[in-house]
Amino acid sequence: MTDNASLAARRDRAVPRGLASSTAVYAARADNAELWDVEGRRYVDFAGGIAVLNTGHRHPRVIAAVEDQLGRFTHTAFQVAPYESYIELAEKLNARAPFSGEAKTILLTTGAEATENAVKIARAATGRSAVIAFTGAFHGRTLLASAMTGKVTPYKRKVGPMPPEVYHAPFPTGIDGNTVEKSLAAIQYLFAADVEPERVAAVIIEPVQGEGGFHVAPTEFLEALRALADSHGFLLIADEVQAGFARTGKLFGIEHSGVEPDLVCVAKSLAGGFPLSGLIGRAQLMDALDPGGLGGTYGGSPIGCAAALAVLDVIEEEGLLDRATAIGERLRRRINAFAAAGLPVANLRGLGAMIGFDVTNAAGETDGAAARAVTGAALEAGLILLSCGTKGETIRILVPLTASDDLIDEGLDIVEASLAKVSGKVDA
Ligand code: PMP
Repeated sequence: MTDNASLAARRDRAVPRGLASSTAVYAARADNAELWDVEGRRYVDFAGGIAVLNTGHRHPRVIAAVEDQLGRFTHTAFQVAPYESYIELAEKLNARAPFSGEAKTILLTTGAEATENAVKIARAATGRSAVIAFTGAFHGRTLLASAMTGKVTPYKRKVGPMPPEVYHAPFPTGIDGNTVEKSLAAIQYLFAADVEPERVAAVIIEPVQGEGGFHVAPTEFLEALRALADSHGFLLIADEVQAGFARTGKLFGIEHSGVEPDLVCVAKSLAGGFPLSGLIGRAQLMDALDPGGLGGTYGGSPIGCAAALAVLDVIEEEGLLDRATAIGERLRRRINAFAAAGLPVANLRGLGAMIGFDVTNAAGETDGAAARAVTGAALEAGLILLSCGTKGETIRILVPLTASDDLIDEGLDIVEASLAKVSGKVDA
């Protein structure tokens, strides 16, 4: 029988160590919010393939749409022989764009491609070069996306110099004195010390930071960025790669603020487990590049398009926006109760079902090692649970929105027991 240990040994020889996996659970099959490894062990899945599975593993509607597509064609390259499903998906995303006016959409493959293409379009549309991003941001691992990502280790270490003209300001996490006022003042420092605002093409922000710790961008901050963009003539890019497609209780996280971005990066749960990303933007901006300036061999794969059209139907028909809100309330109730019971939980935060909290150590400080111990204990008990945050101090919950209350409770029971174990409060 293939087992996790022998696969781990083969992996170590065959795959570079720079590609890290948070578990050594080698997947055999998965269904909705459950996953079985090659040894037949069952896990509750609170990771959702890193925010890809808002509609769960192998949603029957998504699988049926993909199977239908497999029987017709799998790839033609939209740049060679285009197809209707791409156009239909673009039309649907344009109709749902979180801004007023005409929209256009290009489909790509990965989140990093979406953020990189946002910058290409912002540069072409404005004739300017600079980009402002935020500390703790994650925008991908290709070189320009790494430059925009606001964390040196492990993403930028050893691979510099980074592409120029990317500047960072602190993200207003509301924790450790990181206020909106300080972030806005830091942008003014950038304008005074590093780059004139007339050279800025765009500011890029996650409405809810993903890898950086599930920090919600305050509405007043997004409003201030919109005002800065308008007064200086640069664009506002919302990176919705992790927050999008119902996770926060709205299709896009930025909708909670009422602020309208100019460009929106989407990926992950867009296609329910198939590789697809996109960039939705104001039509006149999206047309800034000349024919041939945008694209990619696999961009808008027909399989991804079929899956994404099914995902949009599932979100609507299964009421997943409301379901995300309800799941979020359920998570908050339980996590607040953990804190009230003295478990080492701090800074509960999030929007809808995009919920995170920090784990504290014996000194009451938020602590990456403590959070790692919790995810490790959870895995031993049968729950796949991810951490995030600039120190790895945050537990993030990305359970499929199609999961039953019973399954969510089963996972939360394991989170509680893992926190208790790590804090030494385990029953003797
Ligand atoms: N932006 C955000 C907000 C993300 O969370 C991620 C992936 N974690 C990316 C961009 C990059 O996506 P990909 O890994 O598909 O390139």
